[in-house]
Amino acid sequence: MTIDKELWSEPEGLLEKFDANKDGLIDFDEFRTMCVDLFGNEEVEKHEYRVRDIFDILDSDEDGTLNQEEWERCCKEWTSVVVNPVNVFLIVDVQNDFIEGTLALRDCGKGQDGAEVVAPINRLLAELRWDKVVYSLDWHPENHIGFYENLGLRELHAESKIGKQEAKPFDTVVFLDPHLEQRLWPKHCVIDSWGAQLHKDLVIVPGSDQLRKGKHPNMEAYSVFADNNRENSRELLNILEGVGATDLYVCGLAYDVCVRATCLDGLRQGYRLAVIEDCCRGVDPADIQETRRTIEDNGGLLTDSENTRRLVEGQNRSIVMALQLAKSLGSKILGDKNPEGDE
Ligand SMILES: [Zn+2]
Repeated sequence: MTIDKELWSEPEGLLEKFDANKDGLIDFDEFRTMCVDLFGNEEVEKHEYRVRDIFDILDSDEDGTLNQEEWERCCKEWTSVVVNPVNVFLIVDVQNDFIEGTLALRDCGKGQDGAEVVAPINRLLAELRWDKVVYSLDWHPENHIGFYENLGLRELHAESKIGKQEAKPFDTVVFLDPHLEQRLWPKHCVIDSWGAQLHKDLVIVPGSDQLRKGKHPNMEAYSVFADNNRENSRELLNILEGVGATDLYVCGLAYDVCVRATCLDGLRQGYRLAVIEDCCRGVDPADIQETRRTIEDNGGLLTDSENTRRLVEGQNRSIVMALQLAKSLGSKILGDKNPEGDE
């Protein structure tokens, strides 16, 4: 369902088209009709309550109609993004160690195989026109705090439920200094090692960026946005702001660890976000289920390569992603109304 982008960026033309009772205002029924044109009937029927939520957010004075100011904001900041998204493809940690090296997902014994993401990711790289492609790499020094092998290098806190003697790989302990909870991973993705390289079959497209994370010996970094203590958080944001990104499509390894943390940070930053599930593999199926629920609860879209193709090519649009945008607009409107707030 391809649509005329000219029309959709112009408040007056759109008002003319959808203001059925010609009162100069857009009420919910008129808004819903517009949504059917924008998203298709099937998508609207599947997400009726989300359409209502979007309308209620855009109707910031809560009088049941969009007045001129609300309508202009709707057209310029919501509809125009829904129709003209800036799409970034974020490929998380498709590195040798997670595929056939020291932390190979297939050796975790839960039926996952990281090698399976390479072909579908390559297809999406070849077939779609992305506004930006970013690859992340887990990139740790030898003495990294997250390595099981380094347990002897640091003291544990008294509150750690598991002591040094009984700790096994994948257990979680609490360190004394820095005082933090840490899962112990087999040593992986050591700086400049073979295991830290991106898989040899993964296509690296021209103009893409590569971000390295987890470089600090005493700090883990699961999210591509920031270290786990929320520091060093500008690198990816600078890239996204540089291209004016609105939509993030996230995939890679491991779904329930670094993909999870990256998605939640992306949503927290207000981006519209979809996770491409057939291009993800994780450590543990139970944790993957929890990850899926958490991403959905936070406004992310769970999708696959096929639907990603339709969304990025502009044939389809997603109400879940449209609601996420309305929510970030809503917090912005609240912030404008209450400049003294801690926003
Ligand atoms: Zn790591």
